[in-house]
Amino acid sequence: MGKIIETIEIKKTYTMGSEKVHALQSISIEINRGEYVSFMGPSGSGKSTLMNIIGCLDSPTDGTYILNNKDVSDMTDNELAEIRNKEIGFVFQTFNLLPRASCLENVALPLIYAGYNKPDREDKAFLALKSVGLEDRIRHKPNELSGGQRQRVAIARALVNDPSIILADEPTGNLDSKTSLGIMELFHELHQKGNTIIMVTHEDDIAHYSHRIVRLRDGLVESDEMNPHPTSNKFQTVSE
Ligand code: ADP
Ligand code: MG
Repeated sequence: MGKIIETIEIKKTYTMGSEKVHALQSISIEINRGEYVSFMGPSGSGKSTLMNIIGCLDSPTDGTYILNNKDVSDMTDNELAEIRNKEIGFVFQTFNLLPRASCLENVALPLIYAGYNKPDREDKAFLALKSVGLEDRIRHKPNELSGGQRQRVAIARALVNDPSIILADEPTGNLDSKTSLGIMELFHELHQKGNTIIMVTHEDDIAHYSHRIVRLRDGLVESDEMNPHPTSNKFQTVSE
């Protein structure tokens, strides 16, 4: 398996005028390829800041971040963007889909930056939508879908480029509990297929699907524990 993520004493300080916010004080964490990890912790504890750094959307103020054996701590924004497009698939609480674009177009979007031609983009996007059970919705616009289906489109978009890591910040935060279970079932399948998944959640029931739970408090790791009995609802049928 091997390490895919290593942060060594990373710090993040936001400066706003004369005020400084120490969002991450010193975070040292290792994640292996194929792990399924939840970040938990109170609001303001640094979860999103850490996800942004892990996802190469932002850099630490101090410390070292090694992603896939590469030190990315001091990379320029352009270099980070290149790594991000190759290695990371993002899933957000608010789905972040383009409202005027079809599902197929939304999912194909990351492939434009990756340099694929249109027929290849559409083929890959179709397969990604098929893998989340939405092959019969490819021409629909996001507002013609349920919340759970929209999140599936967002997950297909995160998967389309075959990233090394899937990062999901409160992926079920806008979904009812039954729909959330369907999304967790999908994450369970992705993990079974070998994907590395890191998600942020407030909900114990959701975190319980992951195999490891890291709790943050005040920009520090408060606890980091394996979950000996992750929830797997594979014997349940989930419908929407
Ligand atoms: P969480 O996701 O756990 O709620 P965040 O990582 O969003 O926590 O925030 C951690 C701390 O950093 C908070 O005090 C927050 O107000 C601050 N913060 C987050 N993003 C910014 C930013 N872009 N500029 C200034 N302060 C920020
Ligand atoms: Mg947050």
